[in-house]
Amino acid sequence: MSTPPKWRTAERIVAAEPASDGAGVKLNRSISTPALPDLDPFLMLDEFNTENPDDYIAGFPEHPHRGFETVTYMIDGNMRHRDNTGAEGVLRGGGVQWMTAGRGILHSEMPEQVDGRMQGFQLWVNLPARLKMTDPRYQEFDGAGVPEVRQEDGALIRVVAGAHGDISGPVEGIHGTPLYLDVTLPTGAAVIQPVESGHNGFVYVFEGDAVEITGAESGNGDLNDRSTNSVPRRHLAVLSSGDCVSLRNSGDKTARLLLVAGAPIGEPIARYGPFVMNTEQEIHQAFKDFQDGNFV
Ligand code: MN
Repeated sequence: MSTPPKWRTAERIVAAEPASDGAGVKLNRSISTPALPDLDPFLMLDEFNTENPDDYIAGFPEHPHRGFETVTYMIDGNMRHRDNTGAEGVLRGGGVQWMTAGRGILHSEMPEQVDGRMQGFQLWVNLPARLKMTDPRYQEFDGAGVPEVRQEDGALIRVVAGAHGDISGPVEGIHGTPLYLDVTLPTGAAVIQPVESGHNGFVYVFEGDAVEITGAESGNGDLNDRSTNSVPRRHLAVLSSGDCVSLRNSGDKTARLLLVAGAPIGEPIARYGPFVMNTEQEIHQAFKDFQDGNFV
């Protein structure tokens, strides 16, 4: 007999807050808010989802990053990326760009469209001290490069990083061995996913009414209060410790969520805007390097 799973539950559920970033892009922010300043190693989660071009057209003109990674995952729409090394490309629906900014990158992220829906996410993932000044690196995949698993109950799991069953995501070699899944659950569908013990993880629901974290019904019955484990749309559930999570859609509409986890870093965080380092002195140095044109 194998050891029964230790089911993760919702330790906390926080609502995404309206925010604006770049040159005025409207966002729903769930990590990097007063309620949830960070969730080590995750520093920020923004959802953009609008059909109104005024909400996105200004985009994110040239700006720097140092000391962490930015992960852009597109659901719908087209975003052009351009950086100081001459690298350029358009990220389209279903595609992902995992950018390790490391010691520094100077880039812009601008919509490649003037109307229609723009929907996706940007996740910021911290780097440990020993990797903050690493060489910048990109991993970029279009929608066809992100494998999908379709279950008999209709659930669809897109694997960006980590693995679901035997299927591994294309993003590799990232510190903290992150899991990044995009899960679509039709009414009544459920998915069970191992989430490495000791990693911090979250569920962010972005379509449908709500998703239940249903460990109790899957085995060990340790969930007393079901209400605390129903995650409404535009809410983020911080997962408790454990090694497995069970998610089910008992609503009337198809639900869709991100399930993300990674190893915590456990170091001091000094952050200012696009720079995330360990100390204030390193933040000052980042500003100086940027202003002096020595940024990259
Ligand atoms: Mn950026």
